[in-house]
Amino acid sequence: MKHHYFLITIAVIAFSIASCKNDKKVIIPTDCTEVHWSYDGITDGQDKWVDLCTGYSDCGGQSQSPVNISGAIPDLTLPGLDFNYSSTTTEIENNGHTIEFVCEAGSELTIGTKTYQLLQFHYHAKSEHQVDGLYHPLEVHFVHNESDTAYAVVGVFFEPGEENELFTEFLAHFPTEKGTYTDTTEINLAGLLPENKSFYHYSGSLTTPPCSEVVNWYVLKNEISASATQIAQFEGILKNNYRNIKNLNGRTIYSRDE
Ligand SMILES: [Zn+2]
Repeated sequence: MKHHYFLITIAVIAFSIASCKNDKKVIIPTDCTEVHWSYDGITDGQDKWVDLCTGYSDCGGQSQSPVNISGAIPDLTLPGLDFNYSSTTTEIENNGHTIEFVCEAGSELTIGTKTYQLLQFHYHAKSEHQVDGLYHPLEVHFVHNESDTAYAVVGVFFEPGEENELFTEFLAHFPTEKGTYTDTTEINLAGLLPENKSFYHYSGSLTTPPCSEVVNWYVLKNEISASATQIAQFEGILKNNYRNIKNLNGRTIYSRDE
């Protein structure tokens, strides 16, 4: 009889260990199309992005963005940023994560021998990049690509100051909930860039899933101003849509002054 109890006890222990192991096993879905993610959700927040589906595996990579920009190394051999933005109409989309301004084809950014097409721009509140450990209230990302594996994203910080006329035009039409607004007015995007295009440069990733490590980052040193009221209006629609700072993991940040 004792022998039986012993065997049963062993079986129960073995079963418990096996179930524990099963509980801990993370099954990552292969399909990302229906996956929802957020910045601070308990189950789908930024620390969980990497486990949401296999297509988001880059989110746990070694060359992620954003980063804290500090100790940049001046590099005079870096080509400058040559913006050839034409007037464009935009489709303003609130996708729940940001407000995205989808631009017409035809605006380009040339850097050395490469020419990238402007796809869209959008904003994060607070900024995603830090400079010497400090955040700005707002950062706009101008997303360009040359191919699916070569992106150039230009980050522009906004600081409270004079009112930004272009923003006034946009703000009137911001969808406050998920949805799209198509504006028929042509806008000159150059008004969203500072005159001096000095920049910091490093290699990184998209800052939202799938976090692909395909981005040449150009973060402009000079800020653009928007009034405190305008910044508050942006925040009123969407805020805290920024990813936490990632480690450089040996990457170098370069800088070029104009
Ligand atoms: Zn962005």
